[in-house]
Amino acid sequence: MALYSISGSRAWGDLQGYLTSSVSADYRGEKINLSSIRNLAYDPDPAVRKDAYEAELACYDKIKDSVAFSINSIKLEVINAARLRGFASPLEQNLFSAHMKRETLDALLSSMNDHFDIFRRYLKIKAKALGHKNGLPWYDLFAPMGGIDQKYTVEEAKTYLLGIFKTFDKDLHDMVERAFDEAWIDFYPRDGKRGGAFCAGLGAHRQSRILTNFDGSFSDIVTLAHELGHAYHNLNIQDHRPLNNNYSMPVAETASTFNENVIMNAAISSAASDEEKLALIESQLMDVTQIICDIYSRYLFETSVFENREQEFMQADRLCELMLDAQKKAYGDGLDHDALHPYMWLCKSHYYSTRSFYNYPYAFGGMFARGLYAKYAEEGDAFVPTYRKLLYNTTIASVEDAAMVAGIDLTKKDFWDKSLESYKENVDEFERLVNKLYK
Ligand SMILES: [Zn+2]
Repeated sequence: MALYSISGSRAWGDLQGYLTSSVSADYRGEKINLSSIRNLAYDPDPAVRKDAYEAELACYDKIKDSVAFSINSIKLEVINAARLRGFASPLEQNLFSAHMKRETLDALLSSMNDHFDIFRRYLKIKAKALGHKNGLPWYDLFAPMGGIDQKYTVEEAKTYLLGIFKTFDKDLHDMVERAFDEAWIDFYPRDGKRGGAFCAGLGAHRQSRILTNFDGSFSDIVTLAHELGHAYHNLNIQDHRPLNNNYSMPVAETASTFNENVIMNAAISSAASDEEKLALIESQLMDVTQIICDIYSRYLFETSVFENREQEFMQADRLCELMLDAQKKAYGDGLDHDALHPYMWLCKSHYYSTRSFYNYPYAFGGMFARGLYAKYAEEGDAFVPTYRKLLYNTTIASVEDAAMVAGIDLTKKDFWDKSLESYKENVDEFERLVNKLYK
């Protein structure tokens, strides 16, 4: 199976990677690559965002048929491999490797379904503020709002993070100090360095290494806090034996997202102006809407691809149809149905490996961390040792048993309901600020 995959699923995945990285979009008379054109979705100029979206959608026409062969072949290989290994479905195989029960996934998904209105309301408020009548068009999903101008040096970032983490856990504070002082972090962008950010644990050395592309913005500080959360997770599992050092996908983002909550809440409550507060709340809502509505649409899409693949080969148009259908179900009237994104199946590399359902773990991680943070807000310092014990357990217990350390039953909807409902307050505050600042 492993040998066959080199010329099978891996090769089909490479084809998608090759085509999406070499295709060029025609943008305002210029030829630009796909990742640059997709980055323009964050541009402050509305005309740039719209033109970029149109150029992006148009460029997929050149590669859609070949990429459709990729996804059809990879998903069929996954279906067959799951069957040969004795699983009823790819999802069952996925849950098995995630050490997670079906009841947990069902509870999470059904809670998400019950709370879409909170996130659709945010989208509609944003749409109205930006001058749209029928919900937000896709090209304005990532439009920046409000404003944060402050820039930070690495030294200032360090002081900022230490000041906040000191109030949470001394060991986290000390670890962050070591990370800065002992050069665990590769901060700045440079030629030949990859983009984004990640953290790698060096178990044997009881240390971690972090890569970021620090540019001094507040969101770079949040990224640092996120990666340092992974390092903190590593710190809490370092006493396990080497074979017990891995945690599964759904719990992988617990400590990192928890840290983001710590930093964002501190920043929002000490925002210097309404513009800054709006920018912070909006970016938090933008992110969470991605892990609730968008992740749900990806989960629905992947589920229908698996369901259909055995009977039919899905051409590009059929895949677009399934994607639009999933987006309508997940975003509802929050988005303008005449300006969705039918090609999300093509540009998201997550669909192009044998690791299936590279989606629901994001919703799981975000809502799990949010629920843990709510417990911390309630219980204060007394919660910290429990939280650390929970992280310790992520590599030796199922996700349900690890959560039980903090008395949380993940198979019941109420835990997820509480996490999701907590965003209602943020949307209320967002609306208040929008009404004040966007007239
Ligand atoms: Zn992460």
